[in-house]
Amino acid sequence: MSLAEKLAQERRARLAAERLLELKQAELTDANRKLGRHALALTKRIGATQAEIATFRDENEKVKSDLHTANEKVEQAERRLWHSIQAFQDGFAFFDSQSKLIGANTAYLNIFEGVEEVAPGISYVRILQILTDEGLIDTEELSADAWRSMMTERWMSPAPEPTVIRLWNDRYLKLIDQRGHDGDIVSLALDITATVHYEEELRAARERAEAANRAKSAFLANMSHEIRTPMNGVVGMAELLNDTNLTEEQRLYANTIKNSGEALLVIINDVLDYSKIEAEKLVLHPEPFDLEACMHEVVMLLQANARDKGLTLLVDYDLFMPTNFIGDPGRIRQILTNLIGNAVKFTNEGHVTARVTGVPHPEDNTVMLHISVEDSGIGIPEDKIDHIFGEFNQVEDATNRQFEGTGLGLAITERLIKMMDGEIWVESEFGKGSCFGFRIPLAEADGAKISTPDLPEELRCVMIVDDMEVNRDILNRQLQRLSLEVLPVASGAEALEKMSPKVDLVITDRSLPGMDGMKLARSLRQNWANVPVLLLSSDPADLRDPAIKDIFAGVLQKPLPRGALFTALSTLNQRPQPSLPSAPEAAVPDAPQPTQTQLQQGQRLMRVLAAEDNRTNQLVFRKMVKDLNIDLQFANNGLEAVELYQSFRPDLIFMDISMPKMDGKQATQAIRQLEQEGGQERKVRIVALTAHAMDGDSDGILAAGLDDYLTKPLRKALIHERIMTNVPGDAAALMTVDDMRATG
Ligand code: ADP
Repeated sequence: MSLAEKLAQERRARLAAERLLELKQAELTDANRKLGRHALALTKRIGATQAEIATFRDENEKVKSDLHTANEKVEQAERRLWHSIQAFQDGFAFFDSQSKLIGANTAYLNIFEGVEEVAPGISYVRILQILTDEGLIDTEELSADAWRSMMTERWMSPAPEPTVIRLWNDRYLKLIDQRGHDGDIVSLALDITATVHYEEELRAARERAEAANRAKSAFLANMSHEIRTPMNGVVGMAELLNDTNLTEEQRLYANTIKNSGEALLVIINDVLDYSKIEAEKLVLHPEPFDLEACMHEVVMLLQANARDKGLTLLVDYDLFMPTNFIGDPGRIRQILTNLIGNAVKFTNEGHVTARVTGVPHPEDNTVMLHISVEDSGIGIPEDKIDHIFGEFNQVEDATNRQFEGTGLGLAITERLIKMMDGEIWVESEFGKGSCFGFRIPLAEADGAKISTPDLPEELRCVMIVDDMEVNRDILNRQLQRLSLEVLPVASGAEALEKMSPKVDLVITDRSLPGMDGMKLARSLRQNWANVPVLLLSSDPADLRDPAIKDIFAGVLQKPLPRGALFTALSTLNQRPQPSLPSAPEAAVPDAPQPTQTQLQQGQRLMRVLAAEDNRTNQLVFRKMVKDLNIDLQFANNGLEAVELYQSFRPDLIFMDISMPKMDGKQATQAIRQLEQEGGQERKVRIVALTAHAMDGDSDGILAAGLDDYLTKPLRKALIHERIMTNVPGDAAALMTVDDMRATG
């Protein structure tokens, strides 16, 4: 091999080696670069790690310091807590789930009076044992064992109920135990001694109050019994008395005693009932009752007071108002007693008037009653008027200090009226008087309609003598509503002056200024002996005064119930007239008709025909002529009159003008016709009876052939006069029955 070749070969080899070297160097460089990069990354990482370590170290330091602070705080809080717990007046203790004491404050430990065993670690059961063994607890009626087992059982329950224990020294502890989630128990022992003692005091006070209240109720019940027992005797005996033989006057007294006693009993009950009203336990007891009677009973009860004060106590009960209603009579009486009683109490002179009117509501058969009590008393000042219906409210000033009273009356009254769906009001003028009014709806009871009295027909005109205007007014209205003519006068002198033949009855008050009722009656007797006089008196003693009985036809007790007035008027005829020596026309009831044997030979009775269609008027006519010895026949209409003219041949005819079938004028014409046809010389006298007394009417009557006329209402004296002046020659002389008795 050539050198060249060898050289070439060597070159080639060197070149290859150089290339390899280059390659290796490049690889090395690359590796170095990688290594460098890695080293850099490592270095960075080490740096970061070192920083992290430093941070950790810092944090660790901080945590350590925080922990220290926290520990300090916990210790402080624990100290404070414990301090607080120690400061409690009440006992406080912790027990673990095994019921071992963890800790307790001094108040808790003090319960054990220094027993050293009571310290952390002691069990609850042992504590109970110490309490009983050392006599620290008052187990009251329980034995020590029973008490401990009761307390243990309570302790073991999941949520022990609070309980109260009493210590040996009369201290009371309320145990409140609360179980936590992990079974620990917090136990509180609250000292409630003061509360218990206070409650005991309260209980004792309440018991005393209740006992006092019971005593008061018992006293009231007892008092009511004490009052009721004799009152029942009074009322019962008055009732028994009523069953015996009594005069009318005695019966009135007995009834008054009975009714007044009953009213008083009701008042007693009402006072007791006030508490019921207060408790809203009062119930109304509606029943049928007589309102007017109820009013008069109340007034009777208050009458004596009113009379003592010289007051006139009046009841003005609307004449045509029903009296029977359905309501609670006791309560209504109570209302009336309060209002009328107050009116009498607060009035020193003048009158007290209770008025009753009503508006009927036929659709539900009720009447809206309107009752007012008016007085002429001291009145109520305007600024007080709104308060008087309140409890215990009185118009308190010098003007009424003198008056007794509870101040409950109007409050009760207002409540009762409200319960009856009514309302009450008052109008008053200070110094002048008051008017209390109330409205209540009441249902009418059966038989509620008032029947008007059957008055004697001859009673037409009544004179009222009373100086009290209000009294005159009431009577005036009542009598006018009975269709009577009324002549009200204010004094005896005026009565005598205005007295005239048309007056059929005089009603006079007893006490009149100047001439009193007695004197007036005596004076009347002189010239008007046939006119009955009734006495109005508020004094029951007048009823039995013989001197009064002698001059008066009757005594009416004030306030006058409608019934009593009606009876007095309708029995006016039947009353024995007072003994009037000079009474020429004294009527004798049931006068016997004269018999033929009493007539002289050849004499006959005068024949009188009365044509009158109205039966009552026939009766009146018959009564008016009953004491004359005449032969009387009635015709019921004009036709009958004409027939009787022929068959009865009357000496005198009284002819009513308006009659059915044939009127009085036609009948007269027919009679005159018959007379003419018969050629009679003497024509029968025909006297017209007419209700019409108008001018011109008499002409028509006379033109029809009648001789004379009388206007209704018929007057006995005029009828008698017409008869007397027409007695025919062959008839017996007319005489009254008295005359007949006198002649045998
Ligand atoms: P009492 O009459 O027991 O005091 P009431 O409740 O009945 O209690 O009446 C309350 C007050 O109203 C009375 O004290 C009185 O001042 C006043 N009063 C009631 N009725 C009248 C009256 N008719 N006239 C004047 N004052 C009256």
